[in-house]
Amino acid sequence: MRIPGANLKAQYDPIRDEVIEAFTRLLETTQFVQGPDVKAFEDEFASYCEVKHAIGVANGTEALMLALRAVGVGPDDAVLVPDWTFAATIESVCHVGARPVLVDIDPDTFNISPEGIASALDCFGDRVKAILPVHLYGRPAAMDEILAHADRAGVPVIEDAAQAHGARYKGKRPGGFGRLGCFSFYPTKNLGAAGDGGMITTNDDALATHLRQMCDHGQTGKYEHGFVGFNSRLDSIQAAILRAKLPFLDGWNARRREIARLYGERLASRPEVRLAAPPGDAELVHHLFVVRCERRNELQRHLAAAGIASAIHYPRAVHQQPAFSAYGDDATYPHATRAATEVLALPCYPELTDASVGEVCDAIDAFYTETP
Ligand SMILES: *Cc1c(COP(=O)(O)O)cnc(C)c1O
Repeated sequence: MRIPGANLKAQYDPIRDEVIEAFTRLLETTQFVQGPDVKAFEDEFASYCEVKHAIGVANGTEALMLALRAVGVGPDDAVLVPDWTFAATIESVCHVGARPVLVDIDPDTFNISPEGIASALDCFGDRVKAILPVHLYGRPAAMDEILAHADRAGVPVIEDAAQAHGARYKGKRPGGFGRLGCFSFYPTKNLGAAGDGGMITTNDDALATHLRQMCDHGQTGKYEHGFVGFNSRLDSIQAAILRAKLPFLDGWNARRREIARLYGERLASRPEVRLAAPPGDAELVHHLFVVRCERRNELQRHLAAAGIASAIHYPRAVHQQPAFSAYGDDATYPHATRAATEVLALPCYPELTDASVGEVCDAIDAFYTETP
């Protein structure tokens, strides 16, 4: 594609020296598991998220799974999750043996609906042991309302912040709202490793200690296994590379916001394309720039023919996936169901030029004017 959907090579080129330096320095230490780079990155990421603790883990999915386990979610429990997210959010609930209770989204923000949370709490009562909102597309979920519902129900909130590194909601960063926050460093996330990686954030000292032990074989002392744990650690090589990249994250996120602003300006006059709600008292980090559009599939083909990549996040609501179809139907989740037919992610990454944004918008204009 002339304008690709992501461009990791363009991200790497200007920071090559920093990344290679970090990589070779780590190789020289031969501390491939745990060690000073993991510790340093955990501290730096905790301070970036403005929380007390960060615990490196193998990937974002395991971050969620370990977090649910750490707050005691297990078989027969229910966890509230949005019906509109990446499969990993739901998988994590299933893997601790709990029942995912799908909640429809607020169609304006694509995030879990606080009213939907209230009804699910009424319906599932004491069975609910956690609420797991996702800050989808880099848009913080409605944390005030969500935390109020969670407090009333007496259950913890675990944030899926895999798409929201560095966003803000009423001044505060994702990862610091819930009892635990979960991040992914999958290569195309706002902060990406050269492979898989994940992080759990928390302000709770006891949970932090427990999670550190849990992801390292339940070791409560050297070769003392206090409980049955896991091997889910952040690789030292990834930590070293992520440390080198973290200082660039705010600049990258600012550029994503600028691109979103340009799209907003250009697409405002295009009634066939609807933008998500403005941020309100939040700072978005536009992991994806997702619009709703008329004749979505045709538009996507038209863009592809013009050499422009676009993507559908997601082609199905959670309950429409074969793996999760037992948990709901279209009638119960009208907003997520509708989103699946309308959403389109336009190219949005820091290295995208203003000219490319213009070209994408020109191609969208051409589609709707030439084939009305
Ligand atoms: C990427 C992602 C995950 C999973 O992260 P991995 O590191 O790929 O396991 C979880 N939730 C959401 C919303 C994601 O986008």
